[in-house]
Parts: sequence; structure tokens; C-alpha cells
Amino acid sequence: MEYEELRKREARVMCQTYGRYPLAVKSAKGTTLIDFDGNKYLDLLAGIAVCNLGHSHPAIVDVMRTQAEKLVHVSNLFYQEEQIALAEKLLPLTGMDRVFFCNSGAEANEGAIKMARRYMQEVRGREAYEIITLERSFHGRTLATLTATGQDKIKRGFGPLPPGFTTVPFEDLAALNKAITPRTAAVMVEVIQGEGGIRPLSHAYLQQVRELCDSKDILLIVDEIQSGMGRTGHFWAHQASGITPDIFTAAKALANGLPMGAVFCSQEVAQAFGPGSHGTTFGGGAFVSAVATRVLEVMEQEGLVERSRELGAWMLGECLALKEALPHKIVDVRGRGLMIGIELAFPGQAVWNQLLQAGFVLNLTQERVLRLLPPLVVTREALQRFVDGLQAVLGASHGGA
Ligand SMILES: *Cc1c(COP(=O)(O)O)cnc(C)c1O
Repeated sequence: MEYEELRKREARVMCQTYGRYPLAVKSAKGTTLIDFDGNKYLDLLAGIAVCNLGHSHPAIVDVMRTQAEKLVHVSNLFYQEEQIALAEKLLPLTGMDRVFFCNSGAEANEGAIKMARRYMQEVRGREAYEIITLERSFHGRTLATLTATGQDKIKRGFGPLPPGFTTVPFEDLAALNKAITPRTAAVMVEVIQGEGGIRPLSHAYLQQVRELCDSKDILLIVDEIQSGMGRTGHFWAHQASGITPDIFTAAKALANGLPMGAVFCSQEVAQAFGPGSHGTTFGGGAFVSAVATRVLEVMEQEGLVERSRELGAWMLGECLALKEALPHKIVDVRGRGLMIGIELAFPGQAVWNQLLQAGFVLNLTQERVLRLLPPLVVTREALQRFVDGLQAVLGASHGGA
């Protein structure tokens, strides 16, 4: 069996950083993953909110072919038309004035933290550097971003951690207010905590955080790495709350599977990043930028943000109905658009295994939360099949399993 063979080869050569799924994907098309035995799976994870257009979308395959023959990489020492065109297309969707392109989510958040600190210290002349984040947040795996992350398991064994980070409880405005000091540079939040179990911040809380940041004269950084790019039925999740961040970050779905990150900011904050202040060899190169531009075009043509909103609202309703039917198995259903978490009353590994065997690929986070992040091109029929599959698995399970 190819899978067994691959599993053994992997164990001999790779750092064992991942608890991998018992599945090796040979190829993928649309919303279908195909393993080495030819088994097909419905992809409800999209490579962790990355492949919004599904796999091997013809327009993306086409731009990759064309761009590969035209220009792939020259570095940021040069003007690149593809990069500028992408920024021109993206910025009007963000309400921001400037963008810095990089290669991953962690790198985008690292850039946002550097930007906030440098803005305070160089532009405002204030010795402010502290970043306040929320418990159970996830902001990345670099030293600064894992320190910003509000989960101890991510930090263990990596000390000493860089100073200047504080974590406060989720949706507790008084605690946040108390944590702000004259050294505070910014508050950083995910609009909907992803890795933390699909936990949306309420519109009221986000608006109050915005007001608090204004009154304390500090910056608001929003991490849209998982929640952005139409995932929640808005282009950016924070837009649903009617707030404007000073800095926000994106990554996962930007280039539908190619590594890319972005830091967006206001004109005011962009003063922090003058020549030589920050940089990256690969970020926003011609190849990935051309692909990301095509992603935006396809999203527009196929109306994927609206699709995410409508299909997501329907799906949330279906999941809530399932919770009503199985109240002792499902304790909560949360989310917006096609970013949905189904919290089980018990650790979900057995349920997850059965769903995989039934042909459904999704993620289990925080032990109990089934996390759905399907490609935005997923069909209602496919989602219905999953709801029926989950009902069958949960109906037959004895809880606590
Ligand atoms: C995935 C993720 C990150 C980290 O992105 P990487 O590309 O894995 O470095 C940061 N923040 C959030 C909210 C994420 O979902």
C-alpha cells in the first residue's frame, strides 16, 4: 500500500513536527482529493482555508503556465509590474492605503508587529512596543508571533521569549483596558479565532476595541489570515463589524495555494516602513503576484464572496438543526460564511476518523471542534452530503467515544 510506504519514508527523513492525517493525497481537482488507492474525498478544509477556488482551477493553471514562461523571480530590488498590479487591485478592496507583500501568515504578522513598534518609536517618538493579544488566539510560529499567540502549547520549550507581549481574556473589554500601559503599541486580534475553535468576536466588542485604541492612541492590528479573502461572506471579516483597523494581515487564500502574505496599513502607519526598514527576498514576486491577481478576478467573476455568505448562512442553519436534533452530541455551532465550527460534547477524534472513512476531509481543532473551511466553490449538494454523513456518524456514536 502506497500510503504505508510513504508514512515510513516520511518518518525516516522529516522532522516529526506534524501529527499528520492517515492520508496521502496524490492529486486534487475542484473540491475532490484523490489518494494513492484512487479513493475520493470531499475537501472541506481547502488546505486550511487556502484553496478557495478549489484545486487546479483552469484559470489558475492557465496563469501559472503563462507567467512561468514570462517572469518568475528577480527580487524586490526591481520594479515588477505584476506586484504593482496586484496591489492596485487589492487595496480598493481593503480600505487601506499601502501594502507590504511577504510569504506566509507568520511573516505577515511579524511584519505587522514590526510596523506597529517602528511607527510608535520612529514616527511618534514614543517608547511603546507592547502588543496585546487574546487568549486562545493563533498568530504564527516565528518567535515574535508564537509569543503573541495566546496558547501555551505553542510556546513550550522556546524560551526565552521576546519581551513586550501580553495576553488578555477573550471578549473582556475591562481586562483589555487594564492591560494597556504607556508602553502599549497595539492590540492584535483575529476577528474569528480559527485555530482557537472558530470563535467570532462580537461586533460590539470589536467596535469597543476600536474606540479604546483610539482613546488610548494605540494601533489596532487585525489578523485576517484565516478569516479574509471572502471566507466569512465579507471580503474581510472585520468589515462586517464596521471597523477600520490601522494594520491588517492576510495570507492563506491570497494566491490559492502558493505561499503569500500581506500587511495592509493606513498612509499614516506606512511612514514606519521607509527604505531599508523591512524586506524579503521572495515577497510579492512576479509569479505569485500574477496568480493572486487572477484569484481576485475569478472571485469576482464567480461571485465567491456572496456565495460564501449565502451558502454559509444555509450551512450554519443545517448545522444548527443538527444540533437541535442531537443536543447531547453537539454543544455549539459557530461561524460566519464558510468558516464554521461544530463543537462536540466530547473529544472528536473517533468522529473525525469515521468522517474521513466516509470520504470527508475536515479539521479537528481544540480536540472538540470540527472545523469546516471548504473551498468557496463547494456546492450545496456536497455540503448536504456532509451534513447527512455527520448525522449518520453522530447518530450511531455513543458520545464520550
Ligand atoms: C494560519 C494562521 C497564521 C499563520 O500563518 P502561516 O502561513 O502558517 O505562518 C496566523 N494567523 C492566523 C489567524 C492563521 O490562521
